[in-house]
Amino acid sequence: MTTHVIWLRNDLRITDNKALHAACSDADAKVVAVFIATPGQWRQHEMAPRQAAFIHANLLQVQQALAARGIELVYHQCNDFADSLTWLVDFCQQRQVTALFYNRQYEINERQRDAQLEQQLAGKVVCHSFDDSLLLPPGSVLTGNGEMFKVYTPFRRAFIQRLMESDVRSLPAPPARGDVLPLAEPEKFNYPQAEVGAAYPAGEEAALQRLRAFCREQVQDYAKQRDLPAIAGTSSLSPYLAIGVLSPRQCFNRLRAECPEVLENPESGAFCWLNELIWREFYRHLMVAHPALCKHRPFIEWTDRVTWKADDKALLAWQQGRTGYPIVDAAMRQLNQTGWMHNRLRMISASFLVKDLLIDWRAGERYFMSQLLDGDLAANNGGWQWAASTGTDAAPYFRIFNPTTQGERFDPQGTFIRKWLPELAGVPDNDIHQPHRWAEKQQRALDYPQPIVDHKQARLDTLAAFEAAKRGG
Ligand code: FAD
Repeated sequence: MTTHVIWLRNDLRITDNKALHAACSDADAKVVAVFIATPGQWRQHEMAPRQAAFIHANLLQVQQALAARGIELVYHQCNDFADSLTWLVDFCQQRQVTALFYNRQYEINERQRDAQLEQQLAGKVVCHSFDDSLLLPPGSVLTGNGEMFKVYTPFRRAFIQRLMESDVRSLPAPPARGDVLPLAEPEKFNYPQAEVGAAYPAGEEAALQRLRAFCREQVQDYAKQRDLPAIAGTSSLSPYLAIGVLSPRQCFNRLRAECPEVLENPESGAFCWLNELIWREFYRHLMVAHPALCKHRPFIEWTDRVTWKADDKALLAWQQGRTGYPIVDAAMRQLNQTGWMHNRLRMISASFLVKDLLIDWRAGERYFMSQLLDGDLAANNGGWQWAASTGTDAAPYFRIFNPTTQGERFDPQGTFIRKWLPELAGVPDNDIHQPHRWAEKQQRALDYPQPIVDHKQARLDTLAAFEAAKRGG
């Protein structure tokens, strides 16, 4: 009898899972799933403990779903990628595995690990790998010269063209292959323990329900509401997409089912949401074309000459949400307490760290990863480099967000700010973005820090630092 192994990694679902589907396509083969936890590796990436907890909770769900179909999930915990390979090669030998199936990961360490594995298994086990976590594979959307696009908008145009020609149908879950199996709950990860919070129930059914509800009830308002953090106007699906509880094909197909005209109507909320899914694709395609991004190199090389400030006190104030700029502080407290931050606020708080405090974007990138439930190397690095003007943003470095006017524009009544900064509850709407001005007029004391930096001056300093770096010194 042949034995197929499906190695689950960042694809914790049984529906629309290309590797699992392929592993199960031979009805006579015995199919075993494996999942290998590598906490030592996660530490290096500074993965948020709450994301590790989310992976664990979803792993349980996958294990149950597979067991109900008669498919065993073998769970192993070791330290790092090197150990995981040793264990997996040994496992294949012991179980007389004939074929191994996995969905590709695109980060450089993961790609090197997979190449090593294939070498070690050559001649013994046939390896089948799949592009599963994207709508279109990296390298399939290129300029006329066969290169990866350097800016987003032409990428999107070419992407949509390709998408219309491609088969991106979702695959069903595999049918049962045997009797229901007993369950042995995977031991906890050897990683700091954390709570995920009730807002993100584990399991693909929960993710699909959220997707269905969003596409049916909310997506039409997405273009109008997506920038307002006080409104739950975005899908909140990122934690599920980041660890593969949901696939982008499921997102696109559900969107198309609810809004069949999505590709023809660029003004619609549905198109606007698709646009965000394409940003996700863009950053992953970019990371494969420029693997140095995985090592946190800037996309625009001269920006590495910017002289950043080593100001641990300011960095800590930013991390704790105590900068004296209410929209930044509310955003950081949302991140610290929930592991998720609204996209507009990610842009504002990232811009503040880099362009107001002149702190190296990599310190912010690292801190986000250590907190985010949806931490994703490509999206996080792409977002940070965009905000820092070291990346693919078409606008030049002298576009600098003003944190006060950003707050006034996107949280005009301060509803979001008051939710996360209860110490500002009594400040009227008109003054909520500059509460100390109000406190002074009222001769009141506020238990809230004074702004740690003067935006006007900080802007000039940052412009000077970037200009000097660009000139070459
Ligand atoms: P929706 O608005 O509903 O969008 C749907 C999906 O599209 C998201 O779930 C996400 O998978 C994808 N998406 C949306 N916007 C972007 C974007 N700008 N870039 C890439 N993908 C996008 N996203 C992450 O998933 N992980 C991260 O670690 C991450 N770090 C970021 C850091 C910074 C500095 C910035 C500016 C953005 C970052 N983003 C990251 C992108 C974006 O902020 C989140 O994906 C989004 O806020 C998630 O909320 P949502 O699921 O409601 O998104």
